[in-house]
Amino acid sequence: MKAIVKPGPGPGLVVRDVPKPACGPGDVLIRVRHAGVCGTDLHIAEWDAWAQGRVKPPLVLGHEFAGEVVEVGDDVKEFRAGELVTAEGHIVCGHCLQCRTGNGHICQKTSIIGVDRAGAFAEWIAMPATNVMRLDGIPTEIGAIMDPMGNAFHTVLTAEIAGAVVLVLGCGPIGCFAVGIARPRRARAVVAVDVNPTRLDLATKMGATRALKPGADVDAAVRELSEGNGADVVCEMSGAPSAVHNAFRLVRYGGRVQLLGLPAGDVPVNFATEIIFKGITIYGVIGRKMYETWHQMQRFLKGRRFDPTPVITHRFPLDRIDDALAAIKSGAAGKVILSIPS
Ligand code: ZN
Repeated sequence: MKAIVKPGPGPGLVVRDVPKPACGPGDVLIRVRHAGVCGTDLHIAEWDAWAQGRVKPPLVLGHEFAGEVVEVGDDVKEFRAGELVTAEGHIVCGHCLQCRTGNGHICQKTSIIGVDRAGAFAEWIAMPATNVMRLDGIPTEIGAIMDPMGNAFHTVLTAEIAGAVVLVLGCGPIGCFAVGIARPRRARAVVAVDVNPTRLDLATKMGATRALKPGADVDAAVRELSEGNGADVVCEMSGAPSAVHNAFRLVRYGGRVQLLGLPAGDVPVNFATEIIFKGITIYGVIGRKMYETWHQMQRFLKGRRFDPTPVITHRFPLDRIDDALAAIKSGAAGKVILSIPS
């Protein structure tokens, strides 16, 4: 089958033929129709320090996808051929303390498709049936981005949003999704911040009350919308050290900071003034809650309370992965999707 492969250590990706995956007794074999391209794929393509320490080539990339079930293993009773599905890309052990207390998203033995094992930028992928989610009428193009959408749902729905002034720092796809989720959760106002005007337009389309470049305007907007108190909830989606400090500075006393953006290095923090004296709560967002986040997403999408389509800005066929990565690298793209025709 055709797949996008990191062939060996070093920059670059190739499109080449690899063996079609076998469907184990507990697996579902899926014909991939759409796949989402993510910053993680760019890190692996460029072979940065993180990728060098984590990825063992050769590897089929891709962790966001949706497609059609074509075969189920002998032990699988829940799915049948022809169903349209997506899947949680974090494969967890099911036995550690975290897995057994409903916290599989922080499993100690997580293996991620397209990072630690064969991924979804391919014609077929085999997934454990426990990870597979039926789309139930959600289009495969949307199903393919439920992984990053789930990061946003996890970020927003683990905070008290009703009546809150929400500040979203970083309006990449996940930040834009967060804006779109906060509104139907009845946020009082959502202030979206990014350096890129295209992304600010996307945030506006997703329902931001204000969409602003970083700077004094952001402080003024938060002050005005919160009667001088500060944001009740800050979603930090950028990983920029300056934004991390802005999160702590602009959150109100007793507010909540949801940290999702990954800083490239250490960020010095004044624990006394930025965190302790303000009595704030900080929550680290990793992955999607298994499977609470997935059910929440399905309900929002099927109930049409949330429409992610404005965030999809680019569509490419599988073999144009280099163009897809260039769009992400430009910093102006929303969600970039690969289609894999059968
Ligand atoms: Zn586990």
